[in-house]
Amino acid sequence: MEAETLPSDSDYTHLRLGEAAHVIASETDRDRVVETALRNLSHFGRSEHVELLLIDEESISAKSIGLLADGKIKKPTEDIQITGTVLGEIVGEKCMRTYITSNGCERLCVPMIGSNERVIGLTIIDLDSESNLTDSEKEKINILSMMIGVSLDRIRYIQMSMFDKLTGLYNRRQFDIRLKEEMARIKRYGGSIGLVMADIDYFKRLNDTYGHLQGDIVLQEMAVILRDAVRKNVDIPCRFGGEELMIIMPNTDVEGAFSAAERFRVSCEEHPFTAQDKPLTVTVSGGVAAIEGDSGITVNEFIGRVDTMLYKAKESGRNRIYVWR
Ligand code: GH3
Ligand code: MG
Ligand code: MG
Repeated sequence: MEAETLPSDSDYTHLRLGEAAHVIASETDRDRVVETALRNLSHFGRSEHVELLLIDEESISAKSIGLLADGKIKKPTEDIQITGTVLGEIVGEKCMRTYITSNGCERLCVPMIGSNERVIGLTIIDLDSESNLTDSEKEKINILSMMIGVSLDRIRYIQMSMFDKLTGLYNRRQFDIRLKEEMARIKRYGGSIGLVMADIDYFKRLNDTYGHLQGDIVLQEMAVILRDAVRKNVDIPCRFGGEELMIIMPNTDVEGAFSAAERFRVSCEEHPFTAQDKPLTVTVSGGVAAIEGDSGITVNEFIGRVDTMLYKAKESGRNRIYVWR
C-alpha cells in the first residue's frame, strides 16, 4: 500500500493562514479580531513586536489599537502624527514597504485597506535582523492585513447599525428587535420582562435657553448615568427617540424595574450636568411596566403601558416614576 503523502511545512502554514483568515473574517468582537491579528502577524512575520494602527478619516494621525511585544499583548501606545512621515507615504501609496527606523530597526509596514478602498490602518512589524522574510511570507502578511482591514471596517458598520451615535446606547432598531425577541422568549419559556421609559423634563426649554449643543451634552451624560443604573450585559439601555430613553430588563419583575428606574431618576436629579457657567440640574420622568410569561399583550400594548405611565408622571408634576399595576 502506498504511503499517504504528508503535507509539507508550507502546507501547514497555509492551513494556519486559512484558520487565521477565517477567525478574522467571521469574528464580531473587535478585541478578538485584534488579538488574532497580532498573534498571526507575529507568527507569519517571525517577529516579537507587532502593532496595529488605525488611521483617522483625514489621514493625519494614527491610533494604536493593539500591540504585541515580547510575545505578549500590551497596552497600545500613544496616537502618532503620520503626515510628512514614512507612514503617511505608505498610506498614500497603498503599498507595503520596509524601512529603517531612527533607532536602526528594520520594519515592515503594510496598509490595511477597508471595504471602500480607503487605507483604514497600518500593520507594523519589527523585523528580526536575521529573519529575511521571503516574498511569499510578505504576501501572506499582505493578505492578512487586507482581511484585518475589511473585518475592522465590517465591525464598525455593525456597531453603527446597532448603537446611537450621540449617546452610544442601543438604537431604536435594536430596541424593536430585542423587545420582540425577549417577549417571544418568555411566551415560550416563561419568566418576566421589565420595561422602563424615561423622558427628560423640560428639555425643549433647556435647548432654547442654552442651545442644542448643551442639550446634546446633557443627553450624553444621561446615557452614562443610565448605563450605570442597569445590569451590565443583561439589561438593554436604548435611545428610543429624541430625548426618550428605554430600558428592556430581562428576568425582572415590576419591583425590580421600578427600583432601576428610581435609581436612574435620583442619579439624574443629583448629577451636576456639565455646562459653560455652572453645572445644570436636569430631571427625568419615567413610566414602568412588567409582563410575565404568555401575557397575551402585543409589543405595542406593552410600550403603550409605559408610555401611559410616563404621561401620568409628567402630568402630576415630573421628576417621578409611575408604575403600571
Ligand atoms: P416634558 O417635560 O413634557 O417632556 O417637556 P419637553 O420640553 O422635554 O418635551 P418636548 O417633547 O416638548 O421637547 C422635547 C425636546 O427634545 C425637543 C427637541 O428639540 C429635543 N431633542 C430631541 N432630540 C434631541 C437631540 O438629539 N439633541 C438635543 N439637543 N435636543 C433634542
Ligand atoms: Mg419627549
Ligand atoms: Mg421631555
